[in-house]
Amino acid sequence: MTANVISGTQIAKDVRREVAEGVAKRAEMGLPTPGLATVLVGGDPASAVYVNMKQKACDKAGINAYHIDLPADISQEDLEKKVQELNEDPKVHGILVQLPLPDGLDEEPVLAAIDINKDVDGFHPLNMGRLAQKGRQPTFLPATPAGVIELLVRTGVKMEGANAVVLGRSNIVGMPVALLLVKRNATVTICHSRTKNLKEKCAEADILIAAVGQPEMVKKDWVKPGAVVIDVGTHKIDDDTKKRGYYITGDVAYEEVLEVAGAVSPSPGGVGPMTIAMLLQNTLKAAELADE
Ligand code: NDP
Repeated sequence: MTANVISGTQIAKDVRREVAEGVAKRAEMGLPTPGLATVLVGGDPASAVYVNMKQKACDKAGINAYHIDLPADISQEDLEKKVQELNEDPKVHGILVQLPLPDGLDEEPVLAAIDINKDVDGFHPLNMGRLAQKGRQPTFLPATPAGVIELLVRTGVKMEGANAVVLGRSNIVGMPVALLLVKRNATVTICHSRTKNLKEKCAEADILIAAVGQPEMVKKDWVKPGAVVIDVGTHKIDDDTKKRGYYITGDVAYEEVLEVAGAVSPSPGGVGPMTIAMLLQNTLKAAELADE
């Protein structure tokens, strides 16, 4: 058996086209252009690459991107003040503070300072809290977890009643993905570094989400035949035999898992493009909220 490939690249393209259409429609109606402010503290090169990708995606969708570069030695107070300024700026509908912050800065109060209606990254404690409560809906869903769910929805994967295993429990991926799966009525097992019999637990999953941060950890015998596997992991591995000197891989041993799974999202080309697409979708939603 060879698994179906869940192309995040294609699905993200569809989402981005829908967002661009929504933005164009707003322009026709004379409504303000959605604006996303990205805040990068300290200029970490990897973070700068992500921020740059987000800005380019905004441009393509017709969203205004405002970038704010702040020095690594900025004080906590000044950083929170900057967030307040963006909260008050009517051109800015969404605010994204790129994580992680440099040492010495506390991310929790910074995220909590973002206006809940501009929290397009979905990390405000109120949004996260609502995610964990039955019957409540967050204003925004965090982009990567929302991208995982969107991949499942748009490929017709039935979540209700499915046994889902989430490998990883981080605040930004594992835990919100697990909570979103619960909202979709899946029966969810969350695995982490203290989980016993990890392989056996994963092999029980109808839907397996790998967000463990370990290159190609999920092997063929971790996967139930026919299961749906979503690979959130992304790793840059040095390799002199490659033209670029490296290659990108995920948390899943993709080639061998393809042999047993029913469907697999690759990395690259899976969740990564979805993260940016969902951020754009959230920014459009934020502009719509500001109209009300
Ligand atoms: P973290 O390092 O924050 O979390 C990793 C999780 O996996 C933790 O819960 C940890 O357990 C668990 N874990 C780590 N090692 C093991 C192990 N050997 N056995 C069992 N559990 C383990 O990572 P993130 O959640 O931030 O990211 C996960 C992956 O997703 C990374 O590869 C990252 O690059 C990628 N990513 C991709 C994004 C995208 O847009 N495509 C966006 C964000 C992340 P414990 O809690 O016990 O420490």
